[in-house]
Amino acid sequence: CAGGKSVNPTIKRLLAYCARYPRWLVQAGICLLLATGAEVAGPLLIKLFIDDYLAPRQLVWPDIAALAAGYLGLQVLSAAGFYLQSLRFNRIAQAVVQTLREQVFATAIRLPARYFDKHRSGSLISRITNDTEAIMNLYVQVIGLLVQKVVLLCGILISMALLDLRLMLVCATLLPAVGAVMWLYQKLSVPVVRATRSLLSDINSRLNESLQGMPVIQAMVQEHHFANAFAEVNQQHWQARIKSLKINGILLRPLIDLFYMMVLIGLLALFAHEGLSTGSAIQVGVLYAFISYLGRMIEPLIEMTNQLNQLQQAMVAGERVFALLDESRESTQGESPALQGRVSFEQVSFSYDGQQPVLQEVSFATRPGQMLALVGHTGSGKSTIISLLMGFYPLDQGCIRFDDHPMSALSLSAVRRSIGLVQQDPFIFVGTLADNLRLGRDGILDATLWQALEEVQLAAFVRHLPQGLETLMEEGGKNLSAGQRQLLSFARALVGDPRILILDEATASVDSQTELALSQALSAARRGRTTIAIAHRLSTIVDADEILLLSRGQVSERGTHGELMALGGHYAQLFEMQSQGAWLEEKRA
Ligand code: ATP
Ligand code: MG
Repeated sequence: CAGGKSVNPTIKRLLAYCARYPRWLVQAGICLLLATGAEVAGPLLIKLFIDDYLAPRQLVWPDIAALAAGYLGLQVLSAAGFYLQSLRFNRIAQAVVQTLREQVFATAIRLPARYFDKHRSGSLISRITNDTEAIMNLYVQVIGLLVQKVVLLCGILISMALLDLRLMLVCATLLPAVGAVMWLYQKLSVPVVRATRSLLSDINSRLNESLQGMPVIQAMVQEHHFANAFAEVNQQHWQARIKSLKINGILLRPLIDLFYMMVLIGLLALFAHEGLSTGSAIQVGVLYAFISYLGRMIEPLIEMTNQLNQLQQAMVAGERVFALLDESRESTQGESPALQGRVSFEQVSFSYDGQQPVLQEVSFATRPGQMLALVGHTGSGKSTIISLLMGFYPLDQGCIRFDDHPMSALSLSAVRRSIGLVQQDPFIFVGTLADNLRLGRDGILDATLWQALEEVQLAAFVRHLPQGLETLMEEGGKNLSAGQRQLLSFARALVGDPRILILDEATASVDSQTELALSQALSAARRGRTTIAIAHRLSTIVDADEILLLSRGQVSERGTHGELMALGGHYAQLFEMQSQGAWLEEKRA
């Protein structure tokens, strides 16, 4: 890039993508050379016409007609050549951007949960859409134009040297001057461009967040507040853009125009001086050719400096995209044996941020077919245990085993495939109900879907829908109630016939009657499966083989329901409270 510095690593990496299309590159190069050759040959013909025919007044019409036809032919050739090369470069650009988008998305869906905890989804969207778009400009405009203009400049300089070496040297003083402008531009604008792109990403994040939280914003009458916050980022983006426009405005065209005028004056002065003082005056045709070449030289120089702006945008966008591509992804390695369903935690400790401990030395073991229940206060670490079991976060200490394999030796996908997870806040995808149940798992029959729906007590509801299994789900399952979403997610877990069933508050949003029916269904579903259930309503887990009461990330009580009641500790207290509440409710009803 400009300033004669070694090539920036981001640019190098971006260029490497082009090299995947050698044929198109060669074709584009050939078209470019032909077109440039035709363009620089034009003024030479005119020079011939002026000096050999016009000045000596020898109007040989057939020769002149041949010159005119040649000139026209060259113009057509150059136009066709430039058109074809730009087509080729565009094709390369589209192919590269498509590849980049695929790579970014493929990386994004393999990022560990920790990345999503720290980065806003709007910023990811910005990288996949806006930043790759900016990179596309690099190929379409910058590289194509830059190569084209450099070749054109070389052609012009060679033709000038053939005509008159001294005059060529006068014109060539333009190059270091423009080089200096480019260097200065680079220095001043990179920080501004970087700020602009990061603000654009901020705008996307805010937009995304506001759209998702719209019901809350409207319910809390916070439209004004959010609109103001958005306007503020928007304003900052505007200011950054204006700043970069100001730098462009001063440095690009006006300065180079000034240099151009100075060189032109130099040329004319030299011409006048030679004409007056010495006998060997410069030919008028040569002067014409030089003025014409100088005009043709200035355009590519201005365009090249103009392209610097795009180049910078692409470079910063490239930095952002590559930073994402270089993020460490979830490993896909490890054994994948058939799991029986034995799960054990051995002295597991964990913290999300490395400071605040969330789990401390938690241990338990389940045998295949057993049910383990986790109970405890809000924030005591129940869902965190599930996240660790799913391999969403690495452990700080201790070991998780499936059968006898430590989790670190198993492939994450094998572990996850043997687990059916019903999350606390289930996610429903846009698509039909059947799609949501299958979630891409092939070979699952409709009968299996209906059976799962029956088990979770959702079959009657689906049967009443006009389109049944083919009913389209809105974004996030907005056309379902919270309880229906939970049941659907429960059915989704059962459809895969997993060895291990994990229920995180799977019945928190359903009415007591459905819950009762569900707990019966669950006892059927549990047969032959290891079940780990989190529940606030203790009545649903009384028949668990082991109950762990968590308190601030530690196991404070453990045992069967009977044992814990006999212990008369915190669990017994909680249970008493809940059954009294239920009794009161029943009485009121
Ligand atoms: P609830 O009954 O409300 O679902 P829980 O027992 O499932 O509570 P967890 O979700 O495991 O609680 O959270 C335990 C602690 O970890 C909480 O103090 C919470 O603030 C913290 N925590 C949970 N998820 C994250 C996260 N992604 N990043 C940082 N801290 C987290
Ligand atoms: Mg939870």
